[in-house]
Amino acid sequence: MSTQVRTCPKCFRLMWLKSEQYEWVDNVTIRTKCPHCQSTVRFSLITQGANATGPKMGH
Ligand SMILES: [Zn+2]
Repeated sequence: MSTQVRTCPKCFRLMWLKSEQYEWVDNVTIRTKCPHCQSTVRFSLITQGANATGPKMGH
């Protein structure tokens, strides 16, 4: 997985995340610490592939 660019949900600043800077929570979710506000934040990475169509709710 390459570098991820995400907006922090806490302070709304952009984060560039290299692979060694975040950890996988499950197959589609990463967890990292915002370098700006130091909050622990999670992001879903469902952007492509078979899981891209429709939300995965409940299971
Ligand atoms: Zn932040």
